[in-house]
Amino acid sequence: MRLIDAHAHLDEPALRSFIPNLPIIDELSVISNSVDLDSSVRNLELAKECRSLIPFVGIHPEIFAKYPNLSIAREKLDEMVSKLARYAESAIGIGEIGLDPKYGQMELQEYLLKEILRLAETLRIPITLHSRETTSKLLDELSSYSLHCKILFHWFAGSESELGKLHGKGYYSSFGPSILFSKRIIELVKHSEPGLILTETDCPTIFRSLNESPSTPLLVSSVAFKLGMILHMPMNDVCELISTNAREYLATQD
Ligand SMILES: [Zn+2]
Repeated sequence: MRLIDAHAHLDEPALRSFIPNLPIIDELSVISNSVDLDSSVRNLELAKECRSLIPFVGIHPEIFAKYPNLSIAREKLDEMVSKLARYAESAIGIGEIGLDPKYGQMELQEYLLKEILRLAETLRIPITLHSRETTSKLLDELSSYSLHCKILFHWFAGSESELGKLHGKGYYSSFGPSILFSKRIIELVKHSEPGLILTETDCPTIFRSLNESPSTPLLVSSVAFKLGMILHMPMNDVCELISTNAREYLATQD
């Protein structure tokens, strides 16, 4: 039985005390996503110490909220992408990238995303997307690239029809702790293509409906049990399904 947390942020300070446990918990693999260049370096370093940590490098759209008033010029973004390209050579995938109106400066967000997708076109490694309120826009955007890589819409919370479209294209969707309490997300799981589902925690996100503390990858076991309840599958079969899906998602493309 193997559990997969397909979207976490293990380099975050809140998870520092958890990291030494990861090699002990033999049955858990974690895809650790990065939010900026420093975070990308941290995840690559952590992966050297811990073989069950799968490092992704990326630049999260939240950087546009950290640097407001257009203080990130396009040249600065170009510089960041060329550094990211270097880090990506040692990474397993690219994430977390995407679009989110919450962080503003949409024009620059789209510029950065396009540049990173262009990089992904050549690297052919898997991508993880942040798609809050932007699933349809991202689906449009992706159609203009010849991406020979697997794509995951993490913490998918779009509409049922968007879910149908992304699964129709063979893109993956991951579901996290919100399946433990959100009827809407449970309905989305029911309408998912089982071969394109992954489990995640997005730790150290705090899920106030569950706990006041930062989450850890351990929460993915509850996500997997709940997935089994929704799909009427025993836990062993859920683990088998998610492990197979994760292997296919992470496979390097020819
Ligand atoms: Zn995340």
